[in-house]
Amino acid sequence: MAGRRRRIGVFGGTFDPPHLGHRSVALDVADVLDLDEVVWIPAGDPPHKRLEQLTPAHLRLRMVRAATMGEPRFSVSEIEVNREGPSYTVDTLRALRSKEPKADLYLIVGIDQYRTFDTWRAPEEILTLASLAVMDRGGESLRRDIDAEDTARRPNSLHLPPGTVISVPVKRIDVSSTRVRAAVDRGESIVALVPRAVARIIEAEGLYRRVDR
Ligand code: ATP
Repeated sequence: MAGRRRRIGVFGGTFDPPHLGHRSVALDVADVLDLDEVVWIPAGDPPHKRLEQLTPAHLRLRMVRAATMGEPRFSVSEIEVNREGPSYTVDTLRALRSKEPKADLYLIVGIDQYRTFDTWRAPEEILTLASLAVMDRGGESLRRDIDAEDTARRPNSLHLPPGTVISVPVKRIDVSSTRVRAAVDRGESIVALVPRAVARIIEAEGLYRRVDR
């Protein structure tokens, strides 16, 4: 369509490992928000997770590439993996904004991540760079667009202009990376939890098995 701005979803996470829930919700958000592209961005050195337990970034990147195969709207960015020091979303969005000055950016987060949003670095600036698309998770939902009157579900200290936070309904998929790691550790099958190509990497690299077993 002439004059339509490109609409890009920014989907960050530790993806340790990426699972079928990630794929399903990313597709739902792309459909609901009519996105042209969803960029999956595995975190290199995330400030919100304990580093010593993380699988090395190059392996998480490989798994994300495997998990996104076959969907033309999905792409993968190495921007956080290649960056020295902690990965802050605001830095990533600044970089994407200068690369794509004319696109509308949507930062895609689950409601669990959204609850901590006011503790992130420069949350107010993040909202000048992108809209926040908050996905349902585990039966919890923001249910509707947050407007200036709605203080109930908003992180405490933020002043959010209307329209900057969008509640996006997604199919409920009760899978988490934690559950996948625990299943591997118990020797259970993960075929129903992760894309086949991801399962193959987990198997080949011996990921998520504790050595003391
Ligand atoms: P972990 O179990 O290690 O905390 P996770 O499954 O939450 O991992 P992340 O890599 O932290 O995976 O998730 C990236 C983003 O995807 C986050 O915003 C998270 O809220 C969202 N997300 C992950 N799984 C789901 C799911 N099943 N439904 C909705 N959102 C999800």
